[in-house]
Amino acid sequence: MDVPVLFGERWVAPKVSAWSPVFNPSRGEEIARVPQCGAAEVDAAVQAATVAFGTWSRTAAPARAAKMFAFKAQLEAHFEELAALITRENGKTLEEARGDVRRGIEVVDFACGIAHLCKGENLPQVADGIDGATMREPIGVCAGITPFNFPAMVPLWMFPLAIACGNTFILKPSEKVPLTAVRLAELFLEAGLPPGVLNIVHGGREAVDALLEHPGVAAISFVGSTRVAEHVYVTGCRHGKRVQAAGGAKNVMIVMPDAEPNATVRAIMGASYGCAGQRCMAGSILMGVGEAASLVRDQIAAAIDKLLVGDTSANPQADMGPVIDSAARDRILHAIEMGVAEGASLVRGGKHENPSGGFFVPPTLFDAASPDMHIAREEIFGPVLTMLRPCDLDEAIAWANRSPYGNGAVIFTSSGGAARQFAREVQCGMVGVNVGVPAPMAAFEFSGWNRSFFGDLHVQGTEGVMFYTRQKIVLSRWDNAYRRTQGW
Ligand code: NAD
Repeated sequence: MDVPVLFGERWVAPKVSAWSPVFNPSRGEEIARVPQCGAAEVDAAVQAATVAFGTWSRTAAPARAAKMFAFKAQLEAHFEELAALITRENGKTLEEARGDVRRGIEVVDFACGIAHLCKGENLPQVADGIDGATMREPIGVCAGITPFNFPAMVPLWMFPLAIACGNTFILKPSEKVPLTAVRLAELFLEAGLPPGVLNIVHGGREAVDALLEHPGVAAISFVGSTRVAEHVYVTGCRHGKRVQAAGGAKNVMIVMPDAEPNATVRAIMGASYGCAGQRCMAGSILMGVGEAASLVRDQIAAAIDKLLVGDTSANPQADMGPVIDSAARDRILHAIEMGVAEGASLVRGGKHENPSGGFFVPPTLFDAASPDMHIAREEIFGPVLTMLRPCDLDEAIAWANRSPYGNGAVIFTSSGGAARQFAREVQCGMVGVNVGVPAPMAAFEFSGWNRSFFGDLHVQGTEGVMFYTRQKIVLSRWDNAYRRTQGW
């Protein structure tokens, strides 16, 4: 199957010279091929989006909200189909794929409230005889560039809110998982959204750079690795665009001796091995404080022994699927080798496994690592958990704050004092207390810090509305001519 692009209402097989394969990662089989678009395809998408902006930006807010309600209904009606598609092209389990769709729908729910979210403020008599008011207006053609790990949720973080605000949109999904994005756009058109409001191009760096440089694009939303996020931020800003660029992470989980053991181990297993560790909020570093360390390590090792790793598209019982492709598998296995070479103790996993021809890495646990090792510093983005042993909470927080990233950090404790100290002192934007993954919720922005985010206004939530609109201040003086003639 050749994956099409969408310009306005036309699904097109573009005339490009290069195509790249899309795999079912559970089996290593090619299931489609995706065009590597460049400046010509991006320009066609910008033209379609620019034409549509003329009408859509003037459409009344309740009418835009009504279309979002219709889109939400389409997503609900096709919920299971979308989840199965995600499992097929991404490899995550069906349960994880359902979560991917559900979290995305929650952003559409949020966007349905756009009439309220876009309201301005006013101050009568801001100066003598003058009234002041603010209004938020759409900014034009917006573009979104998304990663492979959440094929539905991350695109849905972006285009529903941008479009509900009155903008038009070009989505450039990950070339590794384009099928879910195409299906989302089909459902969007079937919901009655006008053609050209959402357009799709595919590919990698060439398509991204064409979006970053195109004068017709007003704003760029990016989610992906820190290296590319920085490139997108710098290049987009240089071309005069607003940019929000979310990057990679190295998230820490601290277990205090007074943590509730069973709930803590369940939460850590989900955070570290869910989605085969391919989440920007994955728990990657485990710090067992004092006597908590050996206990939690043994419990996690025992839980790993019970995990069923397998082909998620054939076996609904599988607890963990493959990683996205052979390059990811080889990179992760290399990181594990480095951990062993640097002297960390390999408790579980590490060996190459290939149950069904797919791209599998076993759930891996290291103990006795030091904060300077590669496995403790770098984002691995796979099912690898590295354990450090700080002597107390102060040392744990100090080690956590050495990371250049700043997405998330978590503490497990039954002490309010420890939780409070941690929440106040840890240097990152998303904090969990007895929560394995302090996941982005639609009503809040996803608050990455440091090298996990480049920009000012974060993705989704009210900052998302601010990002996709610009504010106008209107100062008005109205004399009452009738009163003047009456001598009032
Ligand atoms: P990636 O950076 O390789 O790709 C992301 C997007 O950028 C894709 O659409 C890709 O086509 C494009 N791209 C890739 N290389 C490019 C280049 N050189 N120039 C321009 N564009 C390029 O990321 P990925 O592997 O798809 O996703 C995994 C990464 O995303 C991890 O680092 C993860 O932590 C991060 N992530 C972050 C968040 C967040 O909200 N902070 C959420 C999900 C994933």
